Amino acid sequence: MSPTYREQKEEEVSNNFKQHRTRLENEQKRLREELDQLENAARPIDERREGSPFGKREEEATESLELERRLALEKQVTSQITEVEHALHKFEEGTYGLCDSCGQPIAPDRLEALPQAGLCLDCKAKNTRTRVPPG
Ligand SMILES: [Zn+2]
Repeated sequence: MSPTYREQKEEEVSNNFKQHRTRLENEQKRLREELDQLENAARPIDERREGSPFGKREEEATESLELERRLALEKQVTSQITEVEHALHKFEEGTYGLCDSCGQPIAPDRLEALPQAGLCLDCKAKNTRTRVPPG
C-alpha cells in the first residue's frame, strides 16, 4: 500500500523485464543462427548427387526424410523467431508483460519461464480450448 513499496515493486519488475529482454535478444540471435545453419545444410546434399542415378534409393529416402525433418524444424524455428520478435516489439511499444488478448499483466512466473509469452494463462487456456464440444 505504501508508495515506497510500490516503487520498489516497480523497480523489481522493470529489472526483471530488462533480464527478459536480454534473454530474448540472445534467443533471437541463437534462433537466427540455427535457421542459417538449417538453410546452409540444404546445399551439400544436392552437390553430392553426382554418381549413378540408380541404386541409390535408400540414400535418397534418407535424404528426403532429412529434408522433411529439416523443413519442419525450419518452420518451428521461424515461428519461435516470430514470437521472440513480437515480444521484443512489445518492449518498444511499452506493452511488454501485458496480455495480447485481454491487456492484463502476464504473471511474472510465466514470463520468467517463457519471456516471449504473449498471452496470460487465462487467455492461453481459452485459446487451447477452442474446440467446440460435440452436441
Ligand atoms: Zn489475457
